[in-house]
Amino acid sequence: MRLRRYNFGMAVGIESMLGRTFSELIDDAKGASRQALRERYRSALAGPAPLPISRRIQDGGVTKFAQRRADGLEIESVIIPMWRAGSRWTTLCVSSQVGCAMGCTFCETAQLGRLADLSATEIVGQVVAARHEFGADVRNVVFMGMGEPMDNFQNVVQAVRVMTDPMGLSMGMGRITISTVGRIDGIRKLAGLGWRRINLAVSLNAPNDEIRLQIMPINRAEPMAALREALLAYPLRSCQFFMIEYVLIPGVNDAPEHARELAQFLQPVKCCVNVIPYNPRRDSPWPAPTEEQVLRFLSTLQKAGQFCKRRITKGRDFMAACGQLGNRALSRRCRSASSFDQIGSSLRVLPNSIQPL
Ligand code: SF4
Repeated sequence: MRLRRYNFGMAVGIESMLGRTFSELIDDAKGASRQALRERYRSALAGPAPLPISRRIQDGGVTKFAQRRADGLEIESVIIPMWRAGSRWTTLCVSSQVGCAMGCTFCETAQLGRLADLSATEIVGQVVAARHEFGADVRNVVFMGMGEPMDNFQNVVQAVRVMTDPMGLSMGMGRITISTVGRIDGIRKLAGLGWRRINLAVSLNAPNDEIRLQIMPINRAEPMAALREALLAYPLRSCQFFMIEYVLIPGVNDAPEHARELAQFLQPVKCCVNVIPYNPRRDSPWPAPTEEQVLRFLSTLQKAGQFCKRRITKGRDFMAACGQLGNRALSRRCRSASSFDQIGSSLRVLPNSIQPL
């Protein structure tokens, strides 16, 4: 880790500054010049990225990039240009873990298993990297990359504190979305923080328990009725609604009766269903849905009275779309190495340069 020695007589890792709010830094650096510390904090948040960029690929404005940790694992993020009604902005999709333990069968990341929880520094470092290394003017952050944010709750919460710190990145809480597979304990803990503006997205993907169990193992422990209760108890603001994510998989959850059943299940929940055409993972047993299948599902949902929209697919061709993150080859190498130290030291000799996928 790079170290800089500051005038307040302590050595502070630049990387670890990214995981702390300004007031936490002030507390740690008693007697330091506030002005000097603020400048250093701002400069750390301005970049460069705390970890080397090991891969990047761009297509149609979407950029997927990976940062490599010392243990050889990669943190993947996706920069997505957005536009609506004449306005344009940039959304950054960040990872909260390397891999994921949730095992959703349609998801590439699930194939890795849970390899690591990211620290707050590593999460904030993705924003820093997007801004500094790629010049992205990140306005919105969505926790929809690798991992289940509620499984790494403390670090995700700390990262959000840093992102929204007015003395630091100063992002609006309303610009941040946490997406969960539906972990009820996490939803309750998030509600308990009293962050009224943060957005919550829930990955539902099925109209009933039977189908959800086929594609999302979490449903065994936390069935849909319990999840709905947790959502109904969540303190939404009057102008807010949940984003319900629905990955549309042909032959699994895309029939008109599924749309009607879904609308009925969600009837008491203030929400928008975000229909996401399935992005095939590697070795997928299902194809992507056709345009006709997607439109038919959306239209049936609307007729059933459900507010819904469709997520435009971006980055599918280079595995940067929703549910497609994760470097399986690298994770296999990490697993087969006798220890992470071994693979870490072998990777450290790689040039710290941008490489194609
Ligand atoms: S969809 Fe999300 S929660 Fe499910 S395995 Fe993939 S990353 Fe994990």
